[in-house]
Amino acid sequence: MDGVGLDIHDELALDWDAGPLADVARGDAATAAAAVDAAVAGFDVWGSYTPAQRAEVMHRMADLIEANNDDIAMVETLDMGFMYESMKNRLVARGAINFRLYADLIVDYEERAWDAKNMANVVQRMPAGPAVVITPWNAPFMLSTWKLAPALAAGNSVIHKPAEWSPLSAALLAELADEAGFPAGSYNLVQGIGEEVGAALVADPKVRRITFTGSPATGRHIGKAAAENLVPFTAELGGKGPLVVFADADLNAAAYRAAWQFDDSGQVCLAGTRILVEESIRDEFLVKFNEHADALVLGDPRDDGTDIGPVVHPDHRANIHGFVERAAAAGDTIVRGGMPAEDSMHYVPTLIEPASNDSEVVQHEVFGPVLTFQTFATEAEAIELANSTAYGLSAMVWTTSQDRAERVGRALRAGLVWVNTFLVRDLTAPFGGCGISGIGREGGDHALDFHSDLKTLMILNGTVTANL
Ligand code: NAD
Repeated sequence: MDGVGLDIHDELALDWDAGPLADVARGDAATAAAAVDAAVAGFDVWGSYTPAQRAEVMHRMADLIEANNDDIAMVETLDMGFMYESMKNRLVARGAINFRLYADLIVDYEERAWDAKNMANVVQRMPAGPAVVITPWNAPFMLSTWKLAPALAAGNSVIHKPAEWSPLSAALLAELADEAGFPAGSYNLVQGIGEEVGAALVADPKVRRITFTGSPATGRHIGKAAAENLVPFTAELGGKGPLVVFADADLNAAAYRAAWQFDDSGQVCLAGTRILVEESIRDEFLVKFNEHADALVLGDPRDDGTDIGPVVHPDHRANIHGFVERAAAAGDTIVRGGMPAEDSMHYVPTLIEPASNDSEVVQHEVFGPVLTFQTFATEAEAIELANSTAYGLSAMVWTTSQDRAERVGRALRAGLVWVNTFLVRDLTAPFGGCGISGIGREGGDHALDFHSDLKTLMILNGTVTANL
């Protein structure tokens, strides 16, 4: 591919047997130490920039992402199989929006000053220091920018460790950061295996913030490392979202949205993977759901006619199938799908009716195109089932009753609840999970707060104004 600084042969991309797409560095402990040292030096410079100076560089970064949008989208599609159209119009475009959002927020991020106790009191926000940013393989470009932008806006230097299954777009980001004018050492990229270079990065005592998106299992490891060095840590972890459909819902819209959870081969943390439907509309819902699911075309993610691209990696497809095989063996009913697609890298969209709410496939994140289907008799039972896993990232409710929308929405234990819609949100709202779905909140000023140290400055008989 031209113009993106990577030697990628896109004709190889859609065949796992055709060999590697690109070679990527495998950093080790020494690489991690060097990156942290670079970030310590970079912090001295970047951390001293004013918010307005930082915003200028970040807007340039957004300009460059926009200028390279389509090439980045193609790299991302080849690397991990998400639909090119969606990458181009939605997820890569969002990368630029993330940088612009935080460029704007940081210049408006108010310090607070007031008189009390015969003193001028000022709350100053100080950049915290080098921040390690560890990201997962799904939607890597968008998720990386979502975490990098607030860290940089706050004045921290960053060390980004992307996932080993989709490392390519991070290389592009680092190149663009250089071109945008981030000073030396302020923006660092380290490639490699999580248990190797990732573990070394989070254990380094010079790191002052760790922000992680990935699985709860890895979150536990990183949390221990953060605790060892007493470093603030945020974690955006897995999900097992309920999609609750009441009898008064717009049934076609709800069924369409339910089938749409197969999008991106189900490799979406926010996905509503547990479909919960009011008993009285069970059959009608299933007919409509199957109509929408039958219409989905599996294929080449570069083609307009495709709805669902491949899963990220053969090992992951085997993981997905393992869940389905164990479900069948345990007595759950495979309603549709249930197998890898023949002669391709896809997994057939699968619906399972579990024998019980305790089934593994109900209680654990599959992170593939596998949904479960259960019914409920009352609103109270719907809420109980919806809240019955250890996760709490997202939830969806479908109803035409405004009263019920608010009542059920408030009763759900999740960081994000959508009623009659999905995914769209104001980026200044808090984002994160309850339970094993996460620690802390990102989004808007919440991420800036995390990346800052607050100081209260008190001057007897003084007069101090904020934002000097
Ligand atoms: P993962 O936990 O396996 O890996 C995530 C990252 O952590 C990778 O970069 C990996 O190299 C690194 N890593 C692994 N072990 C490490 C260690 N010991 N120390 C430091 N770093 C280490 O997750 P994944 O399979 O890449 O991503 C899928 C998971 O991410 C799913 O659970 C999904 O729900 C979750 N996710 C959550 C959100 C959210 O916003 N809540 C968004 C996307 C994905």
